[in-house]
Amino acid sequence: MERKNSWKTYTEEQRQEMTALCEEYKDFLSRAKTERECVTLSEQMAEAAGYERLESVIEKGGSLKAGDKVYASWMGKTIALFHIGTEPMECGLNILGAHIDSPRLDLKQNPLYEDTDLALLDTHYYGGIKKYQWTALPLALHGVVAKKDGTVVPVVIGEDPADPVLVITDLLPHLGYGQMAKKASEFIAGEDLNLLIGHEPLVLPEVDEDSLSKEEKEERAKQTKEAVKANVLKLLKDKYDIEEEDFLSAEIEVVPAGPARDLGLDRSMILGYGHDDRICAYTSLAAQLALTAPKRTAVCLLVDKEEIGSVGATGAQSRFFENAVAEVMNLAGQYSEIGVRRCLSRSHMLSSDVSAAYDPNYASVNEKKNTAYFGRGLVFNKYTGARGKSGSNDASAEYMALMRRVMDDACVFWQTAELGKVDEGGGGTIAYISANYGMKVIDSGIAVLSMHAPWEAASKADIYEGYKGYIAFQQH
Ligand code: MN
Ligand code: MN
Repeated sequence: MERKNSWKTYTEEQRQEMTALCEEYKDFLSRAKTERECVTLSEQMAEAAGYERLESVIEKGGSLKAGDKVYASWMGKTIALFHIGTEPMECGLNILGAHIDSPRLDLKQNPLYEDTDLALLDTHYYGGIKKYQWTALPLALHGVVAKKDGTVVPVVIGEDPADPVLVITDLLPHLGYGQMAKKASEFIAGEDLNLLIGHEPLVLPEVDEDSLSKEEKEERAKQTKEAVKANVLKLLKDKYDIEEEDFLSAEIEVVPAGPARDLGLDRSMILGYGHDDRICAYTSLAAQLALTAPKRTAVCLLVDKEEIGSVGATGAQSRFFENAVAEVMNLAGQYSEIGVRRCLSRSHMLSSDVSAAYDPNYASVNEKKNTAYFGRGLVFNKYTGARGKSGSNDASAEYMALMRRVMDDACVFWQTAELGKVDEGGGGTIAYISANYGMKVIDSGIAVLSMHAPWEAASKADIYEGYKGYIAFQQH
């Protein structure tokens, strides 16, 4: 039952369509490196495609009918788009779900310190990373600083070619004998992921010490003692009007610096930060925005916090989505308690997350018949989980059969896979959470190489097939 390679079948027109989609995706991936940036960009794209903010429809006392398009976002980190169908919502939704948070390093709340004339920022990693991969590569800062006065200052440093970048230093091999003898999980400790951000000391102008107040003298003494840190703080003050205390209410993520790029001499792949899971998020979003007149109400749900268990107000376990469905049904004149329950339980969902592509360098972790391969299209995982399918949604055979029909009818290339050999490891997704409503959910997604590494790789053909598959799903 070997699945076919989609590349061999493309017409010139399909190649052009694939290339155009992938150019847009690379741009999205390069610009949206945090969940907040993903939501902001998704909102802009949605509005350009005729979507209106749910809250503004509610505020002006409006209503919704078939063909209308609205989106709701929560805390700027999760977003749901609705394209109202001709069928009553009680009949169920077609939902494309994916997550927009990616593994990274977050700045600690009290991050800044100076050591031997070097200024550093302390981090706490987020999600499953191999810590050693984060040293000795150019890094950027993305995030927000929320100030006491209510203003929120966006920060992006390290992306513009004219920007400086930051780095976590590594130990030279000459002195690394002790380090290299350790297990890979231990040779860079989480606490040692400290970002080098400055080295030049602040030089204070000469003043007559006697003319200074006690406070001014103390401040001066502090700035003299930690002059590099003082210089960094001065830069932050000048450029962003941020004080050291403002780090306490900031969310700043440390991510690989630079844009997503074509990979391979033949440009057949994309190397980028955060394919997991923006590759599924972007293709789902693009498919949602391309829809015309769906029968069943079409939804695209992009959530935060998947990498740390889908928890919190913006994770998939939050009531945000259920609440948004209730609001939309209300505006469509279809709200009732039982109506919302019927809507959710009769919904169909593709819970999309990246699959691990077969890697010839690490062949031993996979079982070849049940593995995803580059170029063979959208991946369906009937189940995920670990150690005897634990934690898995395990979609029903009947729903898998429906997906086979939908994909085949639309001439979409697709394949099935498990995450590695039995008992080799495993992983979870958001599928089981939506399945709690009783809705039909299956894990699907696009295969990547080097998943969770600073730079992940994906096939352009699979991005294209994913996009086509998502359109077919929304139209079924
Ligand atoms: Mn993921
Ligand atoms: Mn992941």
